[in-house]
Amino acid sequence: MKKEKEILSIGLAAMLGVCAAGCAISKTDTPKEPFVPETVGVYEAEDASFTGNVAAVTDLKLAGYSGTGYVEGFQDDSDACTFSVSIAEDGFYDLNFVSTSMGGDKYNYVVVDGEQLGTVWIAESSFSDSVLNRVYLTAGDHEIRLVKYWGWISLDRLEIVTSEPIDEAVYQVTAGLCNPNASDETKRLYSYLMDIYGKKFLSGQYCDTGQRGKEFQLIQSVTGKTPAVLGLDFIEYTPSRVENGSNSMATEFAINFWEQGGIVTFCWHWNAPSKYLTGPWYSGFYNDYTNIDLAKIMNGQDQEGYDLLMADIDAIAVQLQRLEDAGVPILWRPLHEASGGWFWWGASGPEAYKKLYILLYERLTNEYGLDNLIWVWNGQDADWYPGDEYVDIIGEDIYPGERVYTSQAASYLNAANNYSTEYKMVYLSENGCLFDPDLAVRDGAMWGMWCTWGGEFVAKDSAFNTLSEQYTEEFMIKQVYEHEAVITLDELPDFSTYKIRKELK
Ligand code: CA
Repeated sequence: MKKEKEILSIGLAAMLGVCAAGCAISKTDTPKEPFVPETVGVYEAEDASFTGNVAAVTDLKLAGYSGTGYVEGFQDDSDACTFSVSIAEDGFYDLNFVSTSMGGDKYNYVVVDGEQLGTVWIAESSFSDSVLNRVYLTAGDHEIRLVKYWGWISLDRLEIVTSEPIDEAVYQVTAGLCNPNASDETKRLYSYLMDIYGKKFLSGQYCDTGQRGKEFQLIQSVTGKTPAVLGLDFIEYTPSRVENGSNSMATEFAINFWEQGGIVTFCWHWNAPSKYLTGPWYSGFYNDYTNIDLAKIMNGQDQEGYDLLMADIDAIAVQLQRLEDAGVPILWRPLHEASGGWFWWGASGPEAYKKLYILLYERLTNEYGLDNLIWVWNGQDADWYPGDEYVDIIGEDIYPGERVYTSQAASYLNAANNYSTEYKMVYLSENGCLFDPDLAVRDGAMWGMWCTWGGEFVAKDSAFNTLSEQYTEEFMIKQVYEHEAVITLDELPDFSTYKIRKELK
């Protein structure tokens, strides 16, 4: 209960902190007191316990370790080093696995008391910090394991230090809409999103057959509630799919859900133009099945490619225009997961991607005059951030595995602190399993929305109306949808009359 009061007071401060139009508060406007972490434990890896190939190194070739050495052998799945630690006080701690990489980026899993809480990253070739931030540990004994994901590290020690308190400014959204001509419907919706941010979670679900689809039906049958947000995809409107017989009702589903009082978000699995497809046409958004070179197109070395991409944008703009004509604002999340590199728009590096993102923004906003778009940027890496003037909301996509209900606080805080120079809302724009709202409130991971992906994450493929508990168990689906901080369709306000915030007028 205490936590809830804290969150409410944060929201109140946000409401009082009214800012005049155009005066977005920059993060640098509010300098912080330097925080000095306290080290509460140092545990040498060579004294820990080992699983699989992991062992203390006897031929110590690396310099700079502490204690009597370090451990190696993270090669096969389940290879692990386990630390038994003792904590004196309940609280948030940063776990620093001081280690080296045997070459390039290496990610490995952190498991605390049997629960996978995140990954740590190391690229340095000398012993360096590799930190998972803000892990909540109760007073007492805990088992902390570093488990092979990519492997190939030398691990010296685990240092446990107190975490820096969250800067409450991350909940106080100061960024208005990028498009100064945003429609009133869009401003009303965005005002609501700002008003609830830091206090509530919007429930969302991708369902490519609309609100009567199997994912929505299953959630309704289990919880009696309907998600507040319907997630849809413009994929089947893409010309290289239409040429192969695709058709879509996504725009109709969106209009219908908005008319029922719901909120709509769209992504776009942009199938590359047919000319560039090298595999099955229906997989043409994956870089592996195209030979499109976005860098060449954006550098003016492939004019035909540029023209084809513009024609694709025009095709999607037709749908966006239909939505605008119907008065439907959307949370628009194009060019998603770019930094992962698995989609062609992310396969030519950040510069080409940012040029395309900005071009898309300019074309849809300024040439087409689409004033119903709330731009959700989902590049997932600071180097891929196109600039504050093109981003309304930051989205992170996280698939942590099966039945992992942790809050993903480290990702939330990274997104809140390290991309924008302003305070923008941060959404969990795609997820596999649900997170436990109680843990999110405790950890301060106040994702403004989540939107679970469809198919196997909710339904068993073989049986249309059977809930799949592979990713989220039934008890947790109920717990989440019944949670008082979770907004479902029945709790949304009437957006036709919702008050527009002063700074958006
Ligand atoms: Ca050591």
